[in-house]
Amino acid sequence: MKNQLVRAMTQDGLVKAVAISSKELVEEARRIHKTSPTATAALGRVLTATSMIGNMQKIEDGSVTLQIKGDGPLGSILAVSDGVGNVRGYVQNPQISLLEKYQGKLDVGAAVGHGLLTVIRDLRMKEPYLGSVELVSGEIAEDITAYFAQSEQTPTACALGVLIDKDQSVKAAGGYLIQLLPGADDKTIDKIEAGIRESGSVTGMFSQNLSAEAILRQVLGGLDLEILESSNVEYRCYCSRQRVRSTLLLLGREELEEIVEKNETTKIACQFCDQIYEFSPAEISEILEEMKNEKIST
Ligand SMILES: [Zn+2]
Repeated sequence: MKNQLVRAMTQDGLVKAVAISSKELVEEARRIHKTSPTATAALGRVLTATSMIGNMQKIEDGSVTLQIKGDGPLGSILAVSDGVGNVRGYVQNPQISLLEKYQGKLDVGAAVGHGLLTVIRDLRMKEPYLGSVELVSGEIAEDITAYFAQSEQTPTACALGVLIDKDQSVKAAGGYLIQLLPGADDKTIDKIEAGIRESGSVTGMFSQNLSAEAILRQVLGGLDLEILESSNVEYRCYCSRQRVRSTLLLLGREELEEIVEKNETTKIACQFCDQIYEFSPAEISEILEEMKNEKIST
């Protein structure tokens, strides 16, 4: 079973929508980061949303980064999507203890806390587009709705769900995002509201193994849809030795010189996929040499 992402538009072109079944990619994130259930749910929701926003942006080499900085036990959460909807991400404290609203219902809002949601859109222009809003509830979907309303002036309905199994693996995950374009009339809005109401919880729908397309049709209350895209997406990291090497420069000269003096191999783990890159003292010396040369040339 692959994660399936479906993007559609109504025949009149006034509503655009996307839905994704993201169970596999959320499970992959859980496996990499060894997240506890509350952290799996929070990170899973953020990854699910980021994938949809990344796909909706429709810029081939673009990317979308979602950053949540809350004061709750999870710390910050970050996710990045490529132009198709392949995502990667991490949560600062992946192993927090269980937080529940009541038995069986994870309390993501309390785990995230109060703080800020920031969206960074890389549109392949000189400067990325950046917008921030205060978190409404920390439940993620509501916060994203608030972000689109306040920062991008786009009326949006967003639902995200991650259901955790008894063995802590991901039983179901997915979400949808519906946006109204200027000109959408009340009749259309009423139909969507009724569709969302009648569909019930998004976790419920994905637990019934409904496809992303079926869910989209259901929540859009029978509006005539044109399916624009159906893609398989996955948890995908783009790290490389070169990229990790460039982050070593940020450590600064003194720290690098210390590493060389100690004559130890430096191990750096990619924060998205946990792959470990090793750098020998000789390589660190090389980097120091490059830093010096750069200073001379500037
Ligand atoms: Zn990586």
